[in-house]
Amino acid sequence: MLIVMSRDATEEQISDVIRTVESYGFKARPIPGGERTSIGVLFNQGAVDESLFLTLPGVKQTIAVTKPYKLVSREFHPEDTLIRIGDVVIGGDSLVIMGGPCAVESEEQVMTIARHVKAAGGDILRGGAFKPRTSPYAFHGMGEEGLKILAKAREAYGLPIVTEVMDLDCFDMVEAYADIVQIGTRNMQNFSLLRRAGESKKPVLLKRGMSATVDEWLMAAEYIMTEGNTEVILCERGVRTFVRHSRNTLDLSAVPVVRRESHLPVIVDPSHAAGYRDQVMPLARAAAAVSAHGLMIEVHHAPETAKCDGGQSLLPGQFEILCRQVRGIFDLSR
Ligand code: PEP
Ligand code: MN
Repeated sequence: MLIVMSRDATEEQISDVIRTVESYGFKARPIPGGERTSIGVLFNQGAVDESLFLTLPGVKQTIAVTKPYKLVSREFHPEDTLIRIGDVVIGGDSLVIMGGPCAVESEEQVMTIARHVKAAGGDILRGGAFKPRTSPYAFHGMGEEGLKILAKAREAYGLPIVTEVMDLDCFDMVEAYADIVQIGTRNMQNFSLLRRAGESKKPVLLKRGMSATVDEWLMAAEYIMTEGNTEVILCERGVRTFVRHSRNTLDLSAVPVVRRESHLPVIVDPSHAAGYRDQVMPLARAAAAVSAHGLMIEVHHAPETAKCDGGQSLLPGQFEILCRQVRGIFDLSR
């Protein structure tokens, strides 16, 4: 339930409502809005009797929330959430482009790619220092050394960095270097990791689980938000289907659904959806056409030597064309 306060409700009346909500064993979450404050009622089992709150001074109305997710829903928060990292705004009317290698491999590699990402008009540098790999024999990333390289590239090119956190063990370390902490598809329902991300002061990029429904994905974001972190970016990266022509199937229909259901920004990663370089550009254009708030693109200057995902990485020149094309399409899509 959402308790909507009247426009002229005083701080004292708001505190009073919060106290009353908590006296029934629920949690109250004040949500300041442009014109008025609302108070979300959380952790209720079943419907809450609205008459408990309607007569309290300063209360305008109550709204029953019909969805299982609350804090992520538009019912709780009608305006788009905007996440600011320096000059970069994620959400609302802007399109953010994240580009970079799948994995950090060396300082020279990251610096070269960061220079291209910057020159092409990319906003954020991506790169994994901790890599979740299907095979235990594969390259698993450079760890803290990789994070230091990303931080150097941020310094050199003024690009914020997004990088994946694989588990609780490396959370503090990744959080200290990253501007955005990424939770990968394999960890979307790692609930202890989600709760830890919820305690973080850094924005979290939450990828959709490779077999998750939109509801399950939004409930994963709800875990982060219930711990207090309101800065969650959702990322569609393809789901597992029967097809063999691509690594996954990009579910672009999820974008308008998420935009309708949630105030959180939703971006698209066509690289991991496609798995093949030649599919990435068309899918990126399509993502911009459905008004995704951003794109995450793998870029490599020498993909044939890449330690991970070279086959789906765009060459710098292709990335430059993509950036130009998708910005125009995004503007037309709204
Ligand atoms: C990644 O972005 O580096 C990655 C591993 O992606 P996903 O979790 O979507 O597979
Ligand atoms: Mn990759």
